Amino acid sequence: MALEKVRDILKLADEARTSVIAFNCTDYNTVKPVITIAEELRKPVICMLYPEHARDKHWTTPYIFAETVKSIAKDVKVPVGLHLDHCSDFDYIVAAMRDGFDSVMYDGSMLSVEENIKNTREITRVARALGADVEAELGRVGFASTVTDQSDTDMYTKPEVAAAFCEQSGCSSVAVAIGSAHGFYKETPHLDIQRLKAINAATDVPLVLHGGSGIPNDQLEIAFREGINKFNVGTEFFYLYYTTMQKFCQAGHPDFFDLPLEVQDQLMEYLRTKMQLCTMTL
Ligand SMILES: [Zn+2]
Repeated sequence: MALEKVRDILKLADEARTSVIAFNCTDYNTVKPVITIAEELRKPVICMLYPEHARDKHWTTPYIFAETVKSIAKDVKVPVGLHLDHCSDFDYIVAAMRDGFDSVMYDGSMLSVEENIKNTREITRVARALGADVEAELGRVGFASTVTDQSDTDMYTKPEVAAAFCEQSGCSSVAVAIGSAHGFYKETPHLDIQRLKAINAATDVPLVLHGGSGIPNDQLEIAFREGINKFNVGTEFFYLYYTTMQKFCQAGHPDFFDLPLEVQDQLMEYLRTKMQLCTMTL
């Protein structure tokens, strides 16, 4: 089928009290396994592009990525969404929307709440005109390599600010900081579920959890029931891509052209387990 709007996919997840999983992808070897396993497991899925992976001389371009996702998604029956991950570059976001992204993240988490609202509203206004949705970020999801980033509650999303933020910014979904962080964790994260419940009670939009590589599954199950409807995974997925290539090359495999197949096989095996976290079956 054609691409489904991320907004509609998140609504399905919200109704089922679970979370759709959004995977950072870069190329055919990542997009194809994600959509193939979503179809096999009858689950919706979202393919995301991180802008840093699509700058000059890098993996892809927003246009090529969007066309890749679209062309693979049209052959499956499950809803597939296309999303631009973390971006704070207004021009880049608008260009990506013109290239086919109908869901984008504007990340103003480094700014004051007032500036974040102002910029998110500006992007939302343009996005609406182009038929796109905007994920915002309130609080700041930092980096797992800096342990304090996941435990510094000053950076966490404040429930008392969340309602006004969502209303004034016009965002369609919001990424929350409740104890997760980007990259591999040095210490097991402990999600602040009470805070999540309070944010969920205060807002009407789907909530997004970033930093999905290494949060214990029992915590995720609770978080998904308590308002997380989009869950972002990148690091562990890419790391598996890398280690698979490394092993393949070290083994001195006779046929180099088997490398992409080996990468896809390994990623599919991982996805078969990871996607089960989304409890919805279509
Ligand atoms: Zn993120």
